[in-house]
Amino acid sequence: MKQFTKSFTQQESIPDTGIEAAVEVMRSGRLHRYNTLPDEKSETDLLELEFAEYMGVPYALACSSGGYALHVAMRAAGVEAGDKVLCNAFTLAPVPGAIHNSGAVPVLIDVAEDYCIDLDDLEQKAEASGAKYLMLSHMRGHLADMDRIMAICERYNLFLIEDCAHTMGASWNGKKSGTFGDVACFSTQTYKHINSGEGGFLTTRHPEVMARAIMHSGSYMLFERHFAAPPKEVFEQIRYETPNYSGRMDNLRAAILRPQLADLETQCERWNSRYRILETLFNQSSAINIPARPDAEHFVASSIQFSLPGFTADEIQDVVKRCGERGVILKWFGDDIPRDYTSRYDSWRYIEDMPQLPKTEKILSTLLDMRIPLTFSEDDCTLIGEIIVEVVNG
Ligand SMILES: *Cc1c(COP(=O)(O)O)cnc(C)c1O
Repeated sequence: MKQFTKSFTQQESIPDTGIEAAVEVMRSGRLHRYNTLPDEKSETDLLELEFAEYMGVPYALACSSGGYALHVAMRAAGVEAGDKVLCNAFTLAPVPGAIHNSGAVPVLIDVAEDYCIDLDDLEQKAEASGAKYLMLSHMRGHLADMDRIMAICERYNLFLIEDCAHTMGASWNGKKSGTFGDVACFSTQTYKHINSGEGGFLTTRHPEVMARAIMHSGSYMLFERHFAAPPKEVFEQIRYETPNYSGRMDNLRAAILRPQLADLETQCERWNSRYRILETLFNQSSAINIPARPDAEHFVASSIQFSLPGFTADEIQDVVKRCGERGVILKWFGDDIPRDYTSRYDSWRYIEDMPQLPKTEKILSTLLDMRIPLTFSEDDCTLIGEIIVEVVNG
C-alpha cells in the first residue's frame, strides 16, 4: 500500500542570504526598526520600500502579524464601535477576530460553490445591512470575480479591505491581488507565502489611511522615518487623535523576508506546478469535485481545496482518517468542532445575532483542504494525489 512520510508542516529553510542578513542585524544590536544610524535605512524600511514597489503602490507598512494588519486596517479606515463589516463566512478565525477587535460587528456572507464569497448574497446583504465596509478574504487563495466585487463596492459605496493572506503574488486579469481595494493586508506567518514566523503588511493608496496605520502601529512620533509613507504634513492632521496600538515589524524578521520577497515569483510557480499535478489526479476521480479556476485568475496554490459531493459527515471523517493513516493530512472545514486552522463560522460565538447560513454549511460539509509545502517534490504530489484518489474511490 502506498504510504507518504513527509511532514505537512515543514517549510523550506530561510535562504542563506536571509540568514546572513539576520546575523548581521544581530551583530549590530540594532533590532528595533527605528534604531538606525544617521541616514541609515533599516532592514524594515528597505523591506517596506521593496514591498511597495513589488505591489506597485505608494505606501506599505510592515507590522507584527496579518491579523494585526487587519485590525489596524479597520481602525485606520475609521471603523467605529457597532459599525457593520461585511465579511466571508468561510474564512480563518483572525478575520472576524480583527473585526471584533475594532469594536465592529461582522455581517457574514455565504460561500459559493467555487469557494469564493457568494456575490449574490454579498449584494443582498450590502443592501439590507447598510454596511459601509467589506473585509474580503481571498480565502485559501481563491479570487472571486474582482470586476463584480468592484461594481458592488461602487454601487453600495463600500470601503474595501482585502485580506491577501493567501494571495501574495496572485492577480486577477493581470492586476495584483491587493491593489483592488482601499487597503490590503498580508501575512508573513510561517504558513503563508514568505516566512518570518510572524509578520504582516498593510498597503494602501490613501495617504491619510496610511498615516493613521503608521501611528497605530506604534511609530511614537518617528513617522518621518517611514519611507514608503505619505509626507509629514499628512501626519500633522492625525498625530494627536490616533492611538498607539504597538505592533511593529523588527529588523531581524525584515532581514529574512527581503530575499524571500525577491524570490516570490519563482516560489509561486513551484506551488502551482504542484497544484496542477494534484488537480489533474483529482479530476480523474468522479467522486472528487475541484472547481475549475477562471482564466482571469492567476492564483498561488500554497494549499488545495476539493469537495466530495454526496459524502456524509461520517464518510468525510473516514476519508480524513484513512488518508491520515497513510501519511496524508487533510483538513475538513465542515466539522462541528473547530480543529487546527479550520473553524466553521458558527464556532465564533462572540458574534452577535449569529445568522444561520445553510448554504455555507452545505458547501463546507464536504470541503477538504490540504497544505502544499514546498518541501514536497512534484513526485511527492503525485504520490499524495494517488493516495487520496485511492481512499476516496474506496
Ligand atoms: C493567516 C491568515 C490571516 C492572519 O494572519 P496571521 O499573520 O496569522 O495573523 C488572515 N486571514 C487569513 C485568511 C489567513 O489565512
